[in-house]
Amino acid sequence: MPARYTAYGPWLRNKFGGRVYKVSVDGGFTCPNRDGSVARGGCTYCNNDSFRATGVSARHSVEDQVQKGIAFLSNRYQAEKFLVYWQHYTNTYGPVDLLRRLFVRSLEADERVVGLSIGTRADCVEDEKLEMLQDLAQTHFITLEYGLESIYDSTLARLNRGHDRSCFEDAVRRTRKRGLPICTHVILGFPWETREQMLSYPDYLNSQPIDFLKIHHLHVVKHTALGREYLADPFWTFSYPEWICFVCNFLERLSPHIVVQRLYGWAPDQDLIAPKWGKAKAVILRDIEQELERRNSWQGKDPNPVNPVNPVEKVFRQD
Ligand code: SF4
Repeated sequence: MPARYTAYGPWLRNKFGGRVYKVSVDGGFTCPNRDGSVARGGCTYCNNDSFRATGVSARHSVEDQVQKGIAFLSNRYQAEKFLVYWQHYTNTYGPVDLLRRLFVRSLEADERVVGLSIGTRADCVEDEKLEMLQDLAQTHFITLEYGLESIYDSTLARLNRGHDRSCFEDAVRRTRKRGLPICTHVILGFPWETREQMLSYPDYLNSQPIDFLKIHHLHVVKHTALGREYLADPFWTFSYPEWICFVCNFLERLSPHIVVQRLYGWAPDQDLIAPKWGKAKAVILRDIEQELERRNSWQGKDPNPVNPVNPVEKVFRQD
């Protein structure tokens, strides 16, 4: 049966000819939204420890983290190739020479590493850093991952995000110019955004030359400003059936050329305040697929594809 959405796993398998997994590392970065350069306190929903994999810590060398992650993933999932995932905080927030050294060390930590996925902010990718990454991309698969979170400036301000949508668009434009693939993530379910507003996200994303997308539902976690707000005065969050229905509506509007890396948010039970679905990851994916099947629907069934260019094809035409 043909896939009903363009999922990242099969896309990677097709590109690299084997099972490819991300291995997380922590390079000891901080974030300009926390250290006072842009703001203090960080984004109101952010608790980096809520998605930290076991053993990932800047107390260990980059090589150690990569090698331990690879040993675990190849043993547990028979993973064959790896992307080093620079996930924690802002991974281009530092001098370009330091960044280059760290990234090269991670690429050289194991011969099965085929590339990098670098999570960062749109306001932390000066041209010299993009040029350095463009150079690494001569031999490896280098992806930039920009958190957009909301397409509405009013929401970004309310989240203390510290940049607006035009900053994201500028980073995307400069990254695309250098041929580097782009992933972005968005969070759906801020209680002040209406369903209609949330269903406008795909239209906007279709208009941007992005290659990959992570779709998260808002989950409220401990030790965050949003968590404290919720505990003082609980607000609406997506119920499980609501999310399954919503994310299928979202996919129907999303261009099939955008490869989907995630379809829900995730936090460990001990950090999660709401919503508590109690569902395993495989069950969530199964239920989304079953809902698409029930509707006889698929990603891009009802899109508004402002940009008809397939960004992924465009990036890899040079391969
Ligand atoms: S979400 Fe990212 S940008 Fe926001 S505070 Fe956390 S690390 Fe910084």
